[in-house]
Parts: sequence; C-alpha cells; structure tokens
Amino acid sequence: MSHCSGLISGVDRFGLHHYLRILIGLIFTVLVAALFRLQVVQGAYYKQIAESNFVRLRRIIATRGEIYDHKYRPIVQNVPSQNLYLIPGRIRSFQSLADFLAQEFGVTMEELRQHIEKTRFRSYEDILIAENIPYENVLTLSEKLNYFPELFFRTETTRRYVYPNHFTGYVGRINETEYQKYKTEDYTINSQIGKTGLEKFYEVLVKGRDGREIIQVDAMGRNLNLFKAESTIEPENGMSLVLTIDNDIQSYAESIFPKGMRGAIVAMDVTTGGILAYVSKPDFDPNLFMSKISVEDWQAMNDDKSKPMVDRVIHAAYPPGSVFKTVTAGVGLEKGIINEFTLLENCAGGMKVGNRFFKCWSSYGHGRSNINNAIKVSCDVFFYDLSLKIKLEDFYQYVHQSQLGQRTGIDLPNERSGLFPNTEWYHKNYGQRISIIGHKVNLAIGQGEVLCTPIQMCALYSAYANNGIWIQPHLLQKTVGHSTVMREQINPVSKVRLPLNPKNLALIQRGLYSVCNEPGGTATRVQVKGATTYGKTGSAENVHGRTTHAWFTGYIVTNKPEICVTVFLENAGHGGSMAAPLATQILNFYMGNYQTIKAPAKVPLQFRDAVAEGDEFDETVNGTEIAIPEPVIGNGIHD
Ligand SMILES: [Zn+2]
Repeated sequence: MSHCSGLISGVDRFGLHHYLRILIGLIFTVLVAALFRLQVVQGAYYKQIAESNFVRLRRIIATRGEIYDHKYRPIVQNVPSQNLYLIPGRIRSFQSLADFLAQEFGVTMEELRQHIEKTRFRSYEDILIAENIPYENVLTLSEKLNYFPELFFRTETTRRYVYPNHFTGYVGRINETEYQKYKTEDYTINSQIGKTGLEKFYEVLVKGRDGREIIQVDAMGRNLNLFKAESTIEPENGMSLVLTIDNDIQSYAESIFPKGMRGAIVAMDVTTGGILAYVSKPDFDPNLFMSKISVEDWQAMNDDKSKPMVDRVIHAAYPPGSVFKTVTAGVGLEKGIINEFTLLENCAGGMKVGNRFFKCWSSYGHGRSNINNAIKVSCDVFFYDLSLKIKLEDFYQYVHQSQLGQRTGIDLPNERSGLFPNTEWYHKNYGQRISIIGHKVNLAIGQGEVLCTPIQMCALYSAYANNGIWIQPHLLQKTVGHSTVMREQINPVSKVRLPLNPKNLALIQRGLYSVCNEPGGTATRVQVKGATTYGKTGSAENVHGRTTHAWFTGYIVTNKPEICVTVFLENAGHGGSMAAPLATQILNFYMGNYQTIKAPAKVPLQFRDAVAEGDEFDETVNGTEIAIPEPVIGNGIHD
C-alpha cells in the first residue's frame, strides 16, 4: 500500500514521464521472472521430454479367428491375456533387470541375452518376455515395474481350447526358422503362428492382417495421443472357422473311450465327408502351450510311452487286419476271379501255401465259403486262396484307386499315407530274389506290409455307404467373420468313384450287412434303433505286442446312408468284443439325438451381418441339409 501510494504521489511529484519508466521496469522484471521460471525451474522437465520422447510405429495385432462346431458352439476361443514386454533401448542396468526377470518370471540371464541379441538391429522393437500372466500377479507386479521403465504390460489375446483334442492344434510364438520363412508376410518376432492342426493348416484364414498406428510416447511409455486418427490403419481380423464337428457327438465319443487305452474314433457324415467326431487317445491339453511350458512338462510329454502327442487318426498307420478284406474281395470281383457264387478253398482252420501253413483265425474252420459268407464270418482261408489268383500289380492298383496307401487329403498337416507294397517295393526292400506269394497271402487279410490310418478306413467305408462315391474327409465347413466363404470355394473336396461296379459294390454291402445282422456274423451285437447296420471287425496282429489291435468300421442307413464310425484300439484284443461296442454306442447316440443334430444351426448375432452380405445365408442356416452336388468322377488319382 505504501509503495502504491508512493507511486501515486510520485506521479504527482515527478509527472507522467517518471511513471512510465517505472511501469516499463516492472514489466521487464515480470518477463525476466517468467523467463527464469521457464529456463531454470521447468527446463529440466522439457529437456527430459525432448530427450526421451519418441515416435513409434505400433502394430495393432489383428484378432485371430475363433473355431466353432457346426452349431456355432466354441471349440477354440480368444481370451484376454496380459503379456510383459521389454524395450531394450531403455535398459538401465542389465544386471538388476536380469535378477528381476529371473525371480519373477523364471527368465534366465541367458534367455534375456538371446532376446536382446535377436533385436540388436531394431533397438526400439519391443520384446515379448512373458505371456499369460495371471491378473492378480499383474497388479502386484505393476508396482515393481516402476523401477524398470524398460518393462511394460500389454493386454493382448490368447487361445482357450475348450476341450483337449488333436485336430485344432495350437498356436505359439513364431520361432527363428518360421520367422525367416514368413517375415515378408506380416509377421514379427513376437507374432503368434499356428504350430499344428487346424491352427496351422488354416493359418492364412484365421490370422488376419495387423494394423498400424503412429504414437508418441513419454518416458513412462504412455501414449501421448498426438498423431491419432488419420495415420492409423485398422487391423483386419482373422476369419473364424465353422467346422463339421458336432460337439455333442465329440464329447460323447470322448466319454466312452476306455480309460488308459490308446487308439482313435472317427465319425463321418458319409454323404458330405464332414467329420462329426475326431478322437485320438491319449491326448493332451493344448492350453499347456499357451504359456511358457516347463522343460519338465515338455520332457514328460515326449518321454511318455503312450505318446500323447501322436494323432492316431491320421499320424499313425497300422495293419488293418480283417477290415481290409473288403478290398481283397473287391479286386477279386472286379478282376472276374470270383462272383457271388464262387466257393474257394475249404477252411479246416488254415491253408497250406508252398511249405508254409497259414492259419485261419478259427481253428475249427469255416468249410467252403462264397464271398458273402467269407466277409460275414471273416474266414481267412477264403482270402488266402483268393490272393493266389490276384496279381500283385492289380492288387496294388485297386488299393490305390480305393484311396488307400495315399493321403486322404484331410485338411490337417502331416497326414500319413499308409502303405501298400508293389513288386518294386519288395525288390527294393527285400532284394530281387524274394518270393512274393507268401507276402500276398498276408496282404489279403490286411497283415504283413499293408498299413492304414483310421481316417483312411473311415473314408473307404463311408464310400461303401455312399453308393461307391469316396469323399475327401474334412473338418472345415465354412468361414465366418468379415466374409463367409464355403469350404468348396477355399479348397474343393475331392470326390472319387471307387473301382467297383454297382453289382460288386452291392455284394460288398451285403457282406457288411451279414456281419451285423445274420447268424454267424462277427458283429451281430452292432444294432442301432431306427437304422440298419453294416460293418466289419478286425483284430490285427502287430509287431508291438501279442495282443491284437482291435478294429471296427461300420455305417448306418435309414432311408438314406447316414454316418460311418471307425474305432481303432491299440493292443486291445478283438475288434468284435472291444471296438464294435464303442461304435454301436456312438451310432445309437447319433440316432437317439437325430433331430437335435440335424436341426438348423442358429447363427450367432455377431455373424449375421457378415452372412447377410453374402448369398449363402439360407443355405448355411440349413447347412446340415445341403444337397450334395453331382460327384466328380475321377480315375482314382485326385491330388
Ligand atoms: Zn476260416
């Protein structure tokens, strides 16, 4: 106040000129103070921003497509996951970082070094350190992360596999080999990639395309939101897969599989080739691979003598035993060696070929059989005798035209082709002087060198059911998401006519009917309410043990052919007593739930818009009743 009154009195005393001088001086003082504050007090702050601020091109990860059964029930889902990333350029103390990561995440110093080594030319690329960190851990860890500005959490998605199985496969982080191979296709060192199963086979469809955004982050890694919008490229999410699998049949087949046994069950719609159930036991939980699997767990899975990682539906080939006899019968009929009335060698419990005695499975013998009786009672001697009249090259050709000894082309990676030898194969493996006759006798009953996978047998018997039209087994029905694409548009399903004329096909079908429905048949207990049963048992001798592999493969017909079920059990005993009852249960389950299984699928809301854009909406809703187009008849070689 005194200063102010002095100023006023100064105006009075010295005039306007003096007042202005003081005013200018005051303004100058304020400016200097502001400048001082800017430069000295806040200067450190701006300096820090200037030095630590940088623009980064950030990838927006596309959401991977999910996997559903034919009723849109989930099989593989996306769930949120908390992942820990490292920005190598910000590391303050390698030692304290290494100690922290070892203690909290079990990451060794060597692993950390390797991670950093991999990104040495991209020092601002984030490195994924740990995946799927439980949410409760994230909360406590966030505190500790204050001391490590080089570390941060990012919310992404991971896979949840609804049930253990062998067909979905699993995803994992890309490895060095995969990265070198696919880096031009929009993968980074942190990308997820399908490692096995459908995840691998349909990687291109489910992956989607990552987006990009330019962001400016501060020293704490916080997004400053300066360049949003115009520079952002939205990701294109992956397409979801709708399979032919029926989760109810699948879980029923799982539930009846004998505990502790090894083997496979496949159920297939014979008129579409769509797989309804796909079980291989023992199996493993694919979710184990979603976080860092321990060395111990990995070792245990690989050392397990029951080999849980082997998909016994397509990756394992076995002697087919008597389920193969329909093939031997087929070539005999087609080559005109036998007809429906032809009686072959008398079975008195075996047959002498050269100086070797080949036993029939029944030591009592079956007498003389025609083809119908031979299939019904599964007499080995009939097929031994028949094999002596068949040329190996004719046999080989017929087997291949029946789609055996080669991959079915199912939409899964690493399918085994099985084996059926020809003369060249014998000469190559056993020398030029080998006598093939004895080998051929064994081949006739599905023993010796012949090997088949359960999927091959299921496809063959489905073809018997489907008027001789073999249809490529497959799991994918269509994709949904930003577009609906039917399986036929992605990769047409092969259709091939078996090398059997209608009369001969009918003879084989009648034999399979007799097996299940006539006195003396080897599977008369395979009875299904509301349907007629056809099938064949097999008990295959093998090098892996004295107990035979048990086979049953068969199908049911209502007013039309329905489904085929193949059951295979390793070293389980007889097909009739071990495998056939399981198939019967599944066939009965199918008929008992027929309306539910066949009812049109309800398309979930999130897919209706996408479907409505296409013209397949009505067809897909009534997908189970789609009429099969006229089969393309090939000459047997379809790939
Ligand atoms: Zn016999």
